[in-house]
Amino acid sequence: MGTQGRQNGGGERPLAGHHDVLICGASFAGLAAARELAGSGADVLVVDRYRIGERPTSACGIPTDWLRALGLMEIELQRFGELVVHSAGGTTVLDLPYTFSTFDYDEMCELLWRNCDAAFETATVTGRGGEEDGEIAVETDRGTISAPLVVDALGWPRILAPDGGFQPLDAPLTRALEVHPPGTGQDLEVWVDRRYVPAGYGWCFPADDELRIGVCSYRPPSHVRAGTDLLAADLGREPVRYQGNWIPHELRPPAEAGVFFAGDSAGQCLPLTAEGIRTALYYGVAVGRELRAVVEGRRSRDQATAAYTRLHDSHQKGFRLLLFVQRLIPRIPPRLLAPLFRVYRTRWLVNLTFNAYLRLAPPGFVGEASADDQVRPGEQQGDAEQPLGTDRDFVKAE
Ligand SMILES: Cc1cc2nc3c(=O)[nH]c(=O)nc-3n(C[C@H](O)[C@H](O)[C@H](O)COP(=O)(O)OP(=O)(O)OC[C@H]3O[C@@H](n4cnc5c(N)ncnc54)[C@H](O)[C@@H]3O)c2cc1C
Repeated sequence: MGTQGRQNGGGERPLAGHHDVLICGASFAGLAAARELAGSGADVLVVDRYRIGERPTSACGIPTDWLRALGLMEIELQRFGELVVHSAGGTTVLDLPYTFSTFDYDEMCELLWRNCDAAFETATVTGRGGEEDGEIAVETDRGTISAPLVVDALGWPRILAPDGGFQPLDAPLTRALEVHPPGTGQDLEVWVDRRYVPAGYGWCFPADDELRIGVCSYRPPSHVRAGTDLLAADLGREPVRYQGNWIPHELRPPAEAGVFFAGDSAGQCLPLTAEGIRTALYYGVAVGRELRAVVEGRRSRDQATAAYTRLHDSHQKGFRLLLFVQRLIPRIPPRLLAPLFRVYRTRWLVNLTFNAYLRLAPPGFVGEASADDQVRPGEQQGDAEQPLGTDRDFVKAE
């Protein structure tokens, strides 16, 4: 990997000019892509509206093997081998075939960035300009930047889509809110309990000296503030340090009009669990590899687009199955949930499903040479659009 990237953020100097690669968004997907380009010799610019690691975007729970694969075990805070599932009728403990870990957002971003040799500027991306001679223009509040290779890793708003899409309340988006009170714990816990949310779940992840307690709703109009406060109160914790966002739960096209989309912008967050960090990393790595092949003259942009699209499509079935279960669970009468979880607890069933779930974005991919290796042909992707300029944060509104 290359040397640490340069952060020039915060300047008022207008931004303009041409780069080989422009990565919009410096969170999991964007930084994973930039990391793959380190040492390629390409002129890579990463932009984000905040400085790197400044604004946490999640509860930061991830399969431990992903931290290991990225060489980031030093940021692990706590590790969990079981998932404790609470529902109205009782509690079931699932013995998992692999562990999950918690970490701090700023530390992951900082370490990913340390392996990059790109430049960074703070700038708010406002939309997409035209394309001329293969150069795509991207509008920001500090001027127009252009590059032949552009990645939208801006999260769910999908700002660089060529046309406007849906607004949050009509869109396939999950709404999530969490609080971060001080405290300690041992268990990775979830609540499938309609007292907190009619369709969705609540969670409590301990991370060293704080707890991350939150609720997500698969139905965008359902507010989650009351459920989050109630869960925190039931756990005897103060609802402090709120953090919330929308999370996509349906795949969207991974490339459109020359722009590559990775992470939440491509809807690559897993339905049902709303786990989107490892998928953002996975597809960020995949995009970075494809772009590297282009700058090194091993592929054309079209070939890279086709290879990345095949990878995205190869996981469609798994994403659809999770979406099916996401829609099914809220329809099951609450009294049946606990018995069903007890049946599900059977070791072979937990192993089978959790291992298949991990394969949707396997940590081993980090060490593999080419995105093409992952392709399983013969599956088609769904289609969806995203809005321009909608506000991704709704904590205030909540
Ligand atoms: C409350 C909550 C808890 C969660 N907990 C977990 C969890 O424990 N585990 C898990 O796997 N997933 C979790 N998720 C989901 C996960 O956070 C996302 O799927 C993941 O962050 C997606 O990564 P990304 O890089 O695609 O996008 P993001 O992390 O959303 O990053 C987008 C980046 O783009 C920048 N940006 C946005 N708009 C602009 C703009 N106009 N101009 C410039 N920059 C811009 C942002 O500042 C940000 O840096 C959680 C989500 C929420 C809301």
